[in-house]
Amino acid sequence: MVTNETKRPISPGAEEELGQVHSVLDKGEVELVDYVGSDRTVARAARTSYQGSEGKSEEADQRLILRLWKDRHTSPFEMVGLTFRIRLPIFVMRQHVRHRTASLNEWSFRYTECPELFFVPDHDNVRGQGKTNKQVGEGKLDEDAATKARTLIDGVNHHAYKTYRLLLELGVAREQARVVLPVSAYTQIVWSMDMRNLLHYFSLRLAPDAQKEIRDYAIVMARIVKKGWPMIWNAFAEGNDPLDQ
Ligand SMILES: Cc1cc2nc3c(=O)[nH]c(=O)nc-3n(C[C@H](O)[C@H](O)[C@H](O)COP(=O)(O)OP(=O)(O)OC[C@H]3O[C@@H](n4cnc5c(N)ncnc54)[C@H](O)[C@@H]3O)c2cc1C
Repeated sequence: MVTNETKRPISPGAEEELGQVHSVLDKGEVELVDYVGSDRTVARAARTSYQGSEGKSEEADQRLILRLWKDRHTSPFEMVGLTFRIRLPIFVMRQHVRHRTASLNEWSFRYTECPELFFVPDHDNVRGQGKTNKQVGEGKLDEDAATKARTLIDGVNHHAYKTYRLLLELGVAREQARVVLPVSAYTQIVWSMDMRNLLHYFSLRLAPDAQKEIRDYAIVMARIVKKGWPMIWNAFAEGNDPLDQ
């Protein structure tokens, strides 16, 4: 008989998160679909160094995890792994996919048609061009300019999708019809990373100079890690929790 009982280490916070769909941006989503290991997994792996196994207490585990992170003894953090389903616009995906230590599988617009899902920034999030740091957006555009910008973006999205449908109706292959889709089109991935590299991703993508749209995704995933792996999060965020800023 198959039961749901497991001998694997589980994390109560992560169990609660499994299958919960979090909204991000206007049409994006993040969901924890699977994971391996808990806080204790890291402590246990580290104790292998001195031929130990179980810790004495949760406090001992927390102390050990803090020490490991401070000393950059990072390999025990690789024993924990998380798998997310993420729906994100292609321009965010292009930044996301630069994190080469992840494994991922993406929607194929060769096999299936692109759904009509396109990103349009909120009115309050149409940003001006940064003056000193040439890579960033800075401050809000005034009301009138923001409204015009949103109308322009929305118009291009609609026009592109209409053209895409017309190409499909003409008999053009999906793999070619997609060339008219803008980077605002949403795609979806299953994305797996070990905890060590996920924390590295957070250090880059929760930073103030990361683009707001990818930071929004990082914030949702970081909250999941904080809930499911509180000791690891404490070690990463010690004294300067990026989720409090
Ligand atoms: C604010 C910001 C601006 C950016 N701007 C640009 C830009 O203008 N253009 C652009 O192309 N990219 C840009 N990037 C992407 C950036 O260059 C990195 O590719 C991305 O942040 C992934 O970082 P990573 O390589 O450390 O992570 P991962 O790919 O997850 O790698 C993790 C770690 O593994 C090691 N590693 C992985 N692959 C190699 C390798 N081939 N050789 C040696 N060590 C490796 C490194 O130690 C690395 O830190 C930007 C990123 C940020 C955060």
